[in-house]
Amino acid sequence: MRHRPRTIRTTESLLENGLIDEESVPEIRDVAKRYAVSITGVMQEQIAHPDDPDDPVARQFVPTGAELLITAEERADPIGDDPFTPVKGITHRYPDRLLLKPMHLCPVYCRFCFRREVVGPGEGMLGQAELTAALDYIRAHPEVWEVILTGGDPLIIAPTKLRPIMAALDGIEHVKVIRFHTRVPVVDPERVTDELVDALGTETPVWVVVHTNHSQEIGAAARGALKRLNRGGIPLLSQTVLLRGVNDTPEALESLFRTLVANRVKPYYLHHGDLAQGTGHFRTTIGEGQELVRRLRGRVSGTCQPTYVLDIPGGHGKVPIGPTYLADGGDGTHQVTDPWGERHPYPPRTAGTTGSTGAGTAAGAGTGTGPREDTDRG
Ligand code: SF4
Repeated sequence: MRHRPRTIRTTESLLENGLIDEESVPEIRDVAKRYAVSITGVMQEQIAHPDDPDDPVARQFVPTGAELLITAEERADPIGDDPFTPVKGITHRYPDRLLLKPMHLCPVYCRFCFRREVVGPGEGMLGQAELTAALDYIRAHPEVWEVILTGGDPLIIAPTKLRPIMAALDGIEHVKVIRFHTRVPVVDPERVTDELVDALGTETPVWVVVHTNHSQEIGAAARGALKRLNRGGIPLLSQTVLLRGVNDTPEALESLFRTLVANRVKPYYLHHGDLAQGTGHFRTTIGEGQELVRRLRGRVSGTCQPTYVLDIPGGHGKVPIGPTYLADGGDGTHQVTDPWGERHPYPPRTAGTTGSTGAGTAAGAGTGTGPREDTDRG
């Protein structure tokens, strides 16, 4: 295995590695007192321009003073986990599935993390008695069809410790699917060893959802980890957070989703940024997010399209918030907007015509039969 840079965990180390400048040290110390810092060797290698705070990888992991700015709408528990926590380590929001959070540590600490108040140094893994109580809760709830291991990052648990958890879940008759939410395959890919893949090889199907936000994160080591999981027979999905200055362009999202599909990962969710404290500099508006998703629709195939979703603050669940393509056309008909912004009546007014209303706003919209380009039509 090649030698990697050591994981950066301190303000001093950020400075030594040229990721922050001398002037910002006092402010970054304040940030680091409040929110954990960690940048793995692999992620340091994927930072193309260490002295550029707008590098899409650096921006996700290098702390900034903007994190000290907390706005009125931001919350310590932005998606409302707390009211749905019957026992430590369990979040049970929907009847048929629940979150099992055995680990509160991550290989990296994302500056926009929605659980930033609870992940990081301090409490690591659930104690044995807490884990037993969490597993007992799952056993006692036959409506739980799917268990989602998240955290923290559950794939930093050593295979020897993961195996008994997997065996316990595998032994619960009503649990039909085990899902992992993890950043490990991309940010710390060498943890995805054959031993780890083997530990995931339960009779109960395991799905892995990989958190990644920019194609620049996915280097050769990450591609290797995804391949090992794939060869282990584990279906792979992705989740991405829409982040200002990281992936809030159609080009960045297109590149990411194409890279994922080309590595056998189906883009699953594009999350609107949560109202986590000190993360306002990363959040787009929902209107901006919808416009990005609309522009993607004409650029990439359905395999490359995740669902744009919002976790409603207060624990009210997750809903799609993508642009709508259907409007009322009156008399039981509809107006449908195509991927290029042109509207059409449905059903068509006259059989055999396109029925276009000509509502597209850019020259060249509409009727050509050859490949189309996204021309940013309104
Ligand atoms: S890996 Fe997930 S839980 Fe960990 S810091 Fe990043 S967003 Fe938060």
